[in-house]
Amino acid sequence: MKHFSIKIKITLWYLLLMLLMMAMIIGFITAVSGSVAQQTAMGQISSTVRTNLAQIDMQQEKLQIGEDFQFYHNGIYTVVYSQSETLLAGQLPVTFTDVGTFENGEIRTVSAGEEEYFVLDLWRAFGWDNGVWVRGIMEVPQSTTIIENLLLMVAVAMPAFILLSTLGGYWIAKKAFQPLEEMIATADSINEGSDLSARMEVPEGKNEFVRLARTFDRMLERLEASFEAEKQFTADASHELRTPISVIKGACEYAIKYDETPEERQETISMIHRQAEKMSVLVSDLLRMTRLDQGTERANFANSDLSKLVRNICAEQADLTCSLHMEIEKDVTAWVDEAMIARLLQNLISNAQKYGKENGTIQVGLRKTENEILLSVADDGIGIAKQQQEKIWQRFYQVDTSRTVDSGVGLGLSMVKKIAQLHGGFMQLESELGKGSCFTLHLPVKSEKKKDMD
Ligand code: ADP
Repeated sequence: MKHFSIKIKITLWYLLLMLLMMAMIIGFITAVSGSVAQQTAMGQISSTVRTNLAQIDMQQEKLQIGEDFQFYHNGIYTVVYSQSETLLAGQLPVTFTDVGTFENGEIRTVSAGEEEYFVLDLWRAFGWDNGVWVRGIMEVPQSTTIIENLLLMVAVAMPAFILLSTLGGYWIAKKAFQPLEEMIATADSINEGSDLSARMEVPEGKNEFVRLARTFDRMLERLEASFEAEKQFTADASHELRTPISVIKGACEYAIKYDETPEERQETISMIHRQAEKMSVLVSDLLRMTRLDQGTERANFANSDLSKLVRNICAEQADLTCSLHMEIEKDVTAWVDEAMIARLLQNLISNAQKYGKENGTIQVGLRKTENEILLSVADDGIGIAKQQQEKIWQRFYQVDTSRTVDSGVGLGLSMVKKIAQLHGGFMQLESELGKGSCFTLHLPVKSEKKKDMD
């Protein structure tokens, strides 16, 4: 049974149920039909014998039998016995040889040979001391004939019925399981060919398998998207690493061949140092990004004094070339991972400095509304064009690579976005080309309340 498919199991189960039901129905009909047939027979014998009794008369000591007397009617033999139990008229059934006793008005069952008979005796009195017995005899109807008919019907109809219902059941099960078969085939084809773009052709309908097939397709879509993103990420990461490596290699080869003065060597070493720095930033950013993505960097949430945290980070930004202004509301607390929020703020301030105006201003703001905590970093720098505003959150995306060649790799904002999401919040950008940008972190206030629940 273990090796049968679900379709076969379901079909066999219903077949078994059907056979059981049939057996119960036949049993019931047999039991009921026997007693009904006997009741009917008793009614018939009683009415026939009484009708015949009315046809009998005695005139001048002679028995008169009317024309309508029926000696044999509907399987009922009617005979007339004298008082001394001598057969006067009528014919007995062949096997009914023993006269036995007479009992007035009661239907009895009498065995004669192998047969069973219903016998009804009625006394017809003529005067005080004369009379005759009118006896009705009828074979006890056996339900066997009914059963035989029923069995015959079952024998003919059942195989056809079972075949039909089994085939029908199997067909329905097969149809219902079709999406599952397709899912197996699709999963197999993905497995064999690693083709994540394969999809199932989901049929119309709402049954469980169709729903499962749709979920399966959605899962494949997400898998494909994340697989593509991973591929893109790996390609971008290796590309980004290759650039500084080839710059370093080229600089070394040039220095070996042509650098003669200490100044020239110093310049080459500085360039190599800058490229190494860039690679170091890239590798650590990549590591952080991967840890955030995979959830291996465990968030360390706590109820923090955000006002203090933001003020401290701003104070640490010693090497800023622009002036930094703070507008920080007091005692704003939130349920956050301090290290992550610090990284987010540092990234935003560093961008504001990189893409800000020379000697420009950076505004850091923190305030709390009824539902949100808003942490913003605004600059009066180059700004970002409308069509770029969606893209800057993507990994490795940089609007103008010539400006960022030494300072970043385009991972900062995607990390900022990820951190905002991990806190149940989101990032908002307002920017105008040439005027400046304002990045705002929206944190839901409920993240603060979480502390009370814990
Ligand atoms: P990176 O700064 O390393 O290039 P980011 O992910 O931090 O990478 O930023 C992506 C791009 O978004 C930057 O290359 C830059 O073009 C643009 N950008 C980020 N912050 C600002 C800003 N404050 N003003 C103007 N452009 C910005």
